[in-house]
Amino acid sequence: MAVPIEVCRMLPKVALHDHLDGGLRASTIVAEAAAVGHELPTTDPAELADWFYDAADSGSLVRYLETFTHTIAVMQTADQLRRVAREFVEDQAADGVIHAEARWAPEQHLAGGLTLVEAVEAVRDGLAEGMEVCAAAGRPISARQILTSMRHATPTTEIAELAVAYRHDSVCGFDIAGAEDGYPPSRFQAAFDYLKRNNFEFTIHAGEAFGLPSIWEAVQLCGASRLGHGVRLVSDIAPDGTLGELAGYIRDRRIALELCPSSNLQTGICSRIADHPFGLLAKLQFRVTVSCDNRLMSRTTLSREFELLSDAFDYDVADLHRFCVNAAKSAFVPFDQRLALIDRINEGFAAVS
Ligand SMILES: [Zn+2]
Repeated sequence: MAVPIEVCRMLPKVALHDHLDGGLRASTIVAEAAAVGHELPTTDPAELADWFYDAADSGSLVRYLETFTHTIAVMQTADQLRRVAREFVEDQAADGVIHAEARWAPEQHLAGGLTLVEAVEAVRDGLAEGMEVCAAAGRPISARQILTSMRHATPTTEIAELAVAYRHDSVCGFDIAGAEDGYPPSRFQAAFDYLKRNNFEFTIHAGEAFGLPSIWEAVQLCGASRLGHGVRLVSDIAPDGTLGELAGYIRDRRIALELCPSSNLQTGICSRIADHPFGLLAKLQFRVTVSCDNRLMSRTTLSREFELLSDAFDYDVADLHRFCVNAAKSAFVPFDQRLALIDRINEGFAAVS
């Protein structure tokens, strides 16, 4: 018996891997596009939401990437970024999320004349407004931003430096995203070295569209403490469950896997949730965490991901509890705040058990 989505919504959850430009409300896209004269495939919010899902689900990378041209087009002013960030927080809290890390690439939001700093501060302000609204509504949530560099761009340390500069002002980490095949993590070695010298946290998209060499570089050359997806790590696990050296290292070091089942279905990792590596990785005691990646493109929420996993792998509330605690343990916030998240998770799960 799957844990019903109504129960999943009540469970206190932590969202580690959620793209700000992949989680907009369709109604917001329509409103902001009209304001700036950006042409959309349709101006009906419900139809537009379907269009995003269908395009992401088409199996065509061109159509998948086209979806982001529309969301990014309406995230080019400070007001737009603030609104999207505020709604990100409100939507997460409404879904029962108590801590969320929103990742986005500031370099993609300068077409309207914003500077990198202005863009980061707009998102900061939006997250703060969202937290304030949610706290007042009795749904307290902490929300931070992870600054991303696009991995196909010319490697730079600029975004890593920006992340460190705002480490006490809403930015909790750094990431690289975008095309993985042909763009190994070590291209950004200088950025990761800079972050390590400054004792700053980062995650790396690795093991999603490319295999073990990408994961190995992310962990061993760059030093990531979390992996975006990392699902292809299963190719280092024998059919009898014996771990290869890299898989063993990642499990034993408790490097978090930010797993996004529905998103992986759309990008072809597997064709149904029951075949997703999540089941094997969880059984073998990796630090598995659950995220949405792009809620709009995958038409999902964190509660829905939990329900899907529960249905596919017969997880009960105790299993979901473990995944939430895993995520809290690997959140990019100080240890005392992670403990406080775990306390809230324990209390919330006790209330529904
Ligand atoms: Zn991602």
